[in-house]
Amino acid sequence: MPHTGSILHGRYAVVSCHVERPLDDDVWRRFSQLQRRRPGGLAIAALMRPPAEGEDAAVWVERAREAQELGPFGLHTHWTSPGHARPTGGGDPAALVREQGEWLRAAGLDARFFCGGGWYFDAEVARAIAELGYVDCTATAFRPSYLGADAAHLQVEEPTWLELADGQKLLELPTTHSIGMLARGVLGPLRREVVHAYFHDTDLLDRRRAAALRAGLALLVLKRTPSDLGELQRGLRPANTMSFANSRG
Ligand SMILES: [Zn+2]
Repeated sequence: MPHTGSILHGRYAVVSCHVERPLDDDVWRRFSQLQRRRPGGLAIAALMRPPAEGEDAAVWVERAREAQELGPFGLHTHWTSPGHARPTGGGDPAALVREQGEWLRAAGLDARFFCGGGWYFDAEVARAIAELGYVDCTATAFRPSYLGADAAHLQVEEPTWLELADGQKLLELPTTHSIGMLARGVLGPLRREVVHAYFHDTDLLDRRRAAALRAGLALLVLKRTPSDLGELQRGLRPANTMSFANSRG
């Protein structure tokens, strides 16, 4: 294993979970058990959706504290509602990211990562994330099938520095594989140096998907060095940079 502070070179596997329903006791128990178990030696990053109106913020914060003890911790913003991730009807998507980031900080939580719900990403959101000091994981190496050609989204294949309009740099650690892609991809050659697999906490309710995740991760760590988002944040210095200064990726 590479150690803290070193510059990482090579082929790593990391995993994150979009924690959508941390207040559902059954979903939370399954996620928390998996995070504790560290499948394949992987510390699963908890990218958590903050409580919506009417959801219990105190229990949420308690569970978020547990999660950040067990692995990397970050923010997963749903702009419209718990069940609808992407923004609808204009508004100011970056403002909600700032508001939620400040709320996490005020609650004493130490978020370091961001993943936009529905893979929504624009230049203003990128600036908000950079200002919060986060690393971004919203870019994907694949094209999400439900997004239209003009949807605000960033496609990137490997870790990259994003150069923002004001000269700030944001480290992008793109999400590269879903559970299904992992299950298919690990059987053949993996094309990415750094594989960043993701799943949803609610996938753990489905026995077939949970089994696919376990199998996919077990195979993945045979082909990549198990790492985690925190270790990449501290040690990975990508050679490539891309400009991300326009409102549309
Ligand atoms: Zn989500």
